[in-house]
Amino acid sequence: MLESIVIVGAGQAAAQLIASLAQDGFSGAVTLVGDEPYLPYQRPPLSKKFLAGELAFDRLYVRPAAFYEKLGTRLMLGTTVARIDRQDKAVLLSDGSRLPYSTLVLATGSRARTIPLPGADRAGVFFLRTIADVEALRAKFEPGKSLVVVGGGYIGLELAAVAARQGLKVTVLEQAPRVMGRGVGPIVSRFYERLHREEGVDIRTGVAVRAIEPGRVVCTDGIHLADLVLIGAGAMPNVELARDAGLAVEDGITVDAQCRTSDPAIYAIGDCTVQHHALFDRRLRLESVHNALEQGRIAAAAITGKPAPALQVPWFWSDQYDVKLQMVGLSAGHDEAVVRGNPDEGRSFAVFYLRQGTLLAVDAVNRAPEFMMSKQLIAERARLDPARLRDERVAVKDLKV
Ligand code: FAD
Repeated sequence: MLESIVIVGAGQAAAQLIASLAQDGFSGAVTLVGDEPYLPYQRPPLSKKFLAGELAFDRLYVRPAAFYEKLGTRLMLGTTVARIDRQDKAVLLSDGSRLPYSTLVLATGSRARTIPLPGADRAGVFFLRTIADVEALRAKFEPGKSLVVVGGGYIGLELAAVAARQGLKVTVLEQAPRVMGRGVGPIVSRFYERLHREEGVDIRTGVAVRAIEPGRVVCTDGIHLADLVLIGAGAMPNVELARDAGLAVEDGITVDAQCRTSDPAIYAIGDCTVQHHALFDRRLRLESVHNALEQGRIAAAAITGKPAPALQVPWFWSDQYDVKLQMVGLSAGHDEAVVRGNPDEGRSFAVFYLRQGTLLAVDAVNRAPEFMMSKQLIAERARLDPARLRDERVAVKDLKV
């Protein structure tokens, strides 16, 4: 019988899987079922250039329609998978029809986290996850309007940067003592607080929101006027389909090194997964383009019986104003943070996180050479000399001793 793969979720991971299956010589049928009405698209520009109106709509697509046509991929967009019938190897669609599979791939991604606040569901309160979210929000962007961003993570801060540049009065409220606390170390958080203040954004840390009322947000530090409110409280993995089907689920769908779930006929890739990372010896749920692409390639290799691609060091980026942050590796467990450049002045420096001299992670702010070099050094578990790292006279290519 012809092998038939059904992919649930038409996002970045799914698009990579389809491309990699073709490269790996898969000759069976591929059906892509996605609940959004679009071809797989890139989400990063949603809080950056697309939000700013600097990127055309069709540039969001990972691949053009002709790519799927050429491969013969069956596209079922605007269609939700409601249930998995593992017994009969079929998925049930929202219109009541059934779609059989020999291999199923869950690429369901994640969704914006809601917060249980009085008023959080009222008009004028926005989230940022989809094209539809941006279109709703952008229609309200007008110079002089006040915008309160609840949550100082990277999406909230990227949006704050775009809004500030467009002349809105922006306040960011972060409950934790520093912004971007989940992603970067304190030195980098402090830099971003300075950067936004320099650009006219009112950044408040250690402030909890109590309620969202018409035209204002009530917080522990008082009342902030708000024509618009954006909730940037992180993401939740879409695991319900997997859980209801009895698959192993933790803080994401549990997958092995080949992206197989606890059912050998079902794989999961991208934001919705939790996987052990061999390099860091930890279970991770990574919400990043790099992870979505890497797991798409890994699953395609496993499905087609090809050797697994070499494991890469996880990385991520964020664009705010004229500053590109590139983060590589995981800093958890570091015992030393070495700074190259001056985070208190200007907009270019890098922080190297070491454990007993071994490089674990780097946060590079407008420092592409340090970032590129570090990818390799982290993979090699390179030991570095903090004095040389600090010394800007030592060229980046000579940092390895
Ligand atoms: P997704 O892209 O979320 O796609 C999953 C799709 O599955 C969605 O369309 C979803 O609606 C659909 N789906 C879910 N359940 C079902 C169902 N039952 N039936 C049918 N369809 C279903 N990452 C970076 O590395 N750098 C960045 O700068 C960056 N910026 C970002 C900015 C924003 C605003 C956002 C939202 C994300 C950003 N990310 C960034 C994260 C990155 O976009 C995600 O990690 C990536 O999109 C994950 O891809 P995915 O395919 O796993 O999931």
